[in-house]
Amino acid sequence: MSRIDGLPPLRDVIATHGLQARKSLGQNFLLDLNLTARIARIPGDLSGMDVLEVGPGPGGLTRGLLSEGARRVLAIEKDHRCMAPLAEIAEAYPDRLQVIEGDALEVDPLAHLTPPIAICANLPYNVGTELLVRWLTPKDWPPFWSSLTLMFQKEVAERIVAQPGSKTYGRLAILSQWRTDARISLTLPPGAFTPPPKVSSAVVHLTALPEPRYPADPKVLERVVARAFNQRRKMLRAALKGEAPDIEDRLLSAGIQPTDRAEQVSLEQFCALARVMEA
Ligand code: SAM
Repeated sequence: MSRIDGLPPLRDVIATHGLQARKSLGQNFLLDLNLTARIARIPGDLSGMDVLEVGPGPGGLTRGLLSEGARRVLAIEKDHRCMAPLAEIAEAYPDRLQVIEGDALEVDPLAHLTPPIAICANLPYNVGTELLVRWLTPKDWPPFWSSLTLMFQKEVAERIVAQPGSKTYGRLAILSQWRTDARISLTLPPGAFTPPPKVSSAVVHLTALPEPRYPADPKVLERVVARAFNQRRKMLRAALKGEAPDIEDRLLSAGIQPTDRAEQVSLEQFCALARVMEA
């Protein structure tokens, strides 16, 4: 028995339910309940919060979130084989765990959640970045969630917190840092997972700011940043040529040298450029 919640150890759960990991579903499980409880503590006090978890798998992090006091957990899982072990967890925590079998890219979680809402997940690598970008680019801000606590490949985590001048600085850094505080909370070696992935992983914690750091239209900012980094080795006057015939003047009015490259431009300057492009 596990000392956290009286449910069986995760290795037994996996054996009992024949849950051999499938690569196609990005399955690298966390089986250490002390570690999952540690991840569940990163968002802070969960007692007054609903938590959205994507990809609970056999339920290690789910158990961490519930034992750490989450008011309710909504877990969306694509793999039918996980439904039975997740039902056992739901039984151990009456009225606190709702499981939806489905694709997180297609299910609208909002109908099932009450704010304040934290999102906490050991994401499947194949859909992780897509979900993050969706959560970072809603129509209205602040978003439906207060914080995101997400496991990524370490390289993706580094792109999220990257600063200008670094090779990993790009669209993901701008989108994340414009409207959230983002930091790496925990780095994990491949051996922390079963089966171990090829690369290290890291948990990123992003807290939604009440307002964007600098004013800009989200669509214009996204477009300009995507274009600028699409050809990151080119000078901006060339990379953004298609944006406007007078792009050099516009760059100068945003305080950017037309000969600069995207990776030298700060978030504040990109926001200024988005405003100049809109004018
Ligand atoms: N949270 C578990 C843990 O920490 O051990 C499992 C994490 S594993 C990296 C990712 C999980 O996401 C798997 O259980 C997989 O079946 C599930 N998954 C993959 N694609 C999904 C999708 N599109 N929607 C929902 N779940 C998905």
